[in-house]
Amino acid sequence: MMEKLKHIELLILDVDGVMTDGRIVWDANGVETKFFNVKDGHGIKLVQRAGIQVGIISGRTSPVVDLRARELGIELVYQGSLQKLESYADMLRRTGLADHQVAYMGDDVIDVPVMRRVAFAAAPCDALPEVRAAAAFVSGCGGGMGAVRELCDLLLKGRGAWEELVVRRYDL
Ligand SMILES: [Mg+2]
Repeated sequence: MMEKLKHIELLILDVDGVMTDGRIVWDANGVETKFFNVKDGHGIKLVQRAGIQVGIISGRTSPVVDLRARELGIELVYQGSLQKLESYADMLRRTGLADHQVAYMGDDVIDVPVMRRVAFAAAPCDALPEVRAAAAFVSGCGGGMGAVRELCDLLLKGRGAWEELVVRRYDL
């Protein structure tokens, strides 16, 4: 597993059920809200600092996703993507990367085709059984509850960046 992680240059995340717990909140004005996790956000910043690019492919479309992506400095954002393989192929074109350099975390069946392509497929513990079966790594955490952070920490360790970016920086 660590051998595969060493080559990862791009982390792609699904949004609903991965970066969030999957719940969507609507207010009376029809404005959509989601709960993101600060721990996941920090993990994303850490892998970016280690030189790994981060991208988002969401089947739905929501302005809050653009806001969260902007806050985290994520420029590879695909929303309304019902054929995730097409967005994935476009992301590879834009970054010049290949399957063996990509990690992906998804939670629903729409994610499985991309998970089958990438070098390292991951899922939160509350992903559908078919999705967990397609994953090389199933987090101990649920979507929006630290699953992304656990994957990010694993990527840092695989890259050999954990000591410098976390242990020494925070004096652990
Ligand atoms: Mg999802």
